[in-house]
Formats: sequence, structure tokens, C-alpha cells
Amino acid sequence: MQETMTAAYLPGNSTVEMRTVPVPTPGHGEVLLRMKASTICGSDIRCIYHEHLGKGPEGYQGVVAGHEPCGQIVAEGPGCRRFKTGDRVIVYHISGCGVCNDCRRGYMISCTSARYRRAYGWQRDGGMAEYMIAEEKDLIALPDALSYADGAQVACGFGTVYEGLEKIGIDGNHAVLITGLGPVGLATGALCRKLGANKIIGIDVVPERMKIALDLGLCDAVQASGPDNVAQVRELTGGFGVERAVDCSANNLARATAIRATRKWGKIVFLGEGGTVEFNPSPDIIHDQKTIYGSWVTSTWLMEELVERLVRWNLHPADIITHRFALDKAADAYALMASGKCGKVAVCQDEELK
Ligand SMILES: [Zn+2]
Ligand SMILES: [Zn+2]
Repeated sequence: MQETMTAAYLPGNSTVEMRTVPVPTPGHGEVLLRMKASTICGSDIRCIYHEHLGKGPEGYQGVVAGHEPCGQIVAEGPGCRRFKTGDRVIVYHISGCGVCNDCRRGYMISCTSARYRRAYGWQRDGGMAEYMIAEEKDLIALPDALSYADGAQVACGFGTVYEGLEKIGIDGNHAVLITGLGPVGLATGALCRKLGANKIIGIDVVPERMKIALDLGLCDAVQASGPDNVAQVRELTGGFGVERAVDCSANNLARATAIRATRKWGKIVFLGEGGTVEFNPSPDIIHDQKTIYGSWVTSTWLMEELVERLVRWNLHPADIITHRFALDKAADAYALMASGKCGKVAVCQDEELK
């Protein structure tokens, strides 16, 4: 076993710093993972890469970057109960205290312990390295039918979307509007397809992303973002609007479009983080009996359910990865993700770097 490894850090000036650090040793209840795939999230760019904006759960503590890790266990510390060397695993990207109410529900994302809640890649070392330490309780078994790159996508993006879609419910009665076709929006299209949505409409500003959504068959129609979006969506839905809308943009105008393009009795979920929204409660939601949901990441048990569904549906989240980079090219990977001219971007090792 090598003694040192390469790891990527984000100093906050739109660069990536590569350092050589010791390979860590797993403590009690921890495992050492050989990293195979680690994908870049919009929140990494928004809160860390350009500058360190995050506060609280998004406060970056100068650790190894990367909160969407997937790899193989190469060593176990004492006290592990289920997982062992050789197992392929996804890491739920926040390690919670394990005993607060949120943790007991499986939502370590909203763990209320200021002392023990630490997100991988934010407050504790993440996946942009050759190896990483994870707590056994944060692991989800990766089925053989899924690749490590598929698994990395489950850690944050697909899990977050699945949770939001479960909240609003998606079935064959529904036309769905997706505002924002970044990786989360593309994941929304992929999951809505498998859940049986009747028609999927996407809106974005970046032509590359609109093209990916159509090329991969994740949307039936895409519109360039603009003042006519509500009218366009109504026209595509017999004049009524969609039954379900998912905002993945965090953009003020796009969120208002998601609300207004939803028909009477419809449901809207907000997944995109940050920003604001302006709408008029009486005409926009109250009189039309609409419901707006907020949804933050997902739980460990729903992630386990999702990987089972992915196998059943033969859905491979890695299909929305448009670019793979070796670890020593992590700087190029972050720069591309920051440009937005891509689908999902992954840093990979071994068999995942084809
Ligand atoms: Zn993420
Ligand atoms: Zn907790």
C-alpha cells in the first residue's frame, strides 16, 4: 500500500490546488475507499470554487474537495458491522451525528448537531483524491449492475431529484416542466421518464444543455428561457399547463415560470439552491389550489431504494456524464463545470477512466 496520495483542494480563486498528503488510516467504524468516481456538483462551483461563500452546512473548511464519491473498500477500521474490503459503495455525502431526530430519519443532510455534522468535501475530506475515509454508517451498497460513475451520481444529484419527485408524485397522468437543465435537471428528465411521465418539457439558457436533454431523450420539448415560456408551456399542454413542475435553476424568473406554467391543483417542487423568487400568491397559487414543496437532498433509506430502482429500470445515471478527467486534470474538470457547457463532469480512476 502506498503511503502518500494526490488530493485536490479548492482555494477559492477559481483554481484547483493539488497536494501530496499521507494516505489516511481508517478509525473505529470507518473504511478506507479507493476512489473510482467523484463528480462535481453545482454547489461546489457556487459555494467553493469561485470563492468561499458557504456558511453553516455549506462552509468549506479547506478539506479535500468532492462530495459525490463512489469507490471500493480497501481497508476497514475496527468495529465495522456490515461492509468489508472489496465491497463497492456509494458515500451518502454528509456524515451526521447518527442520534438526532433528522439522522434517525436517515436525513443526515439536516443533522442538527453542530459538533458532529460534517459533509464530505466541505468539513471533512471528500472524494477528489486517490483514497478517502468514510464512516460505515454513511455507505450505500452499489449493486453490481451499476458502475462507480453511476453511483457517484446517486450520492447527490439523482438522490436529490428522486426525493423531490417522490414528494410531488409523478405518473402517467402528468406533464412535467423542468426549469434548469444542468445535471439536476437532466436527472429529473431521466427519472420522470422511468416514472412514466406523459410529457417532459425543459427550459434552459445554455444551448449545449438544451441539446443534451433532447439528444439523450430526457425531454420531449425544450424552450430557450424567455418571457413567453408560460404561454409556450400552455400551448404544449392543451392550453392548461403542466401537472408537475420541478425547479432546478434557482433563478427568480424560472421559478416564477415553474409556478405559473403549472395548472390548477398542480404541484411544484424547488430543488435549485440559493436566490429568490417573486410571485403573487392569490392568482399564482391560492386561487388555483397549487402546492409548492421544498426538498433538500434525500435520506439513506431512499438512496438504497433508488439504487434498487435504477437496476430494475436499467437506468444508468452515468449517461448524463459528458466529460471524464483523471485526478491530475481536476483543474480542467472544475473549469469546464464552471463554464456550464457540459452535462455532468467526473474525476475518475482505474476502470472508470476509459
Ligand atoms: Zn452535490
Ligand atoms: Zn444528527
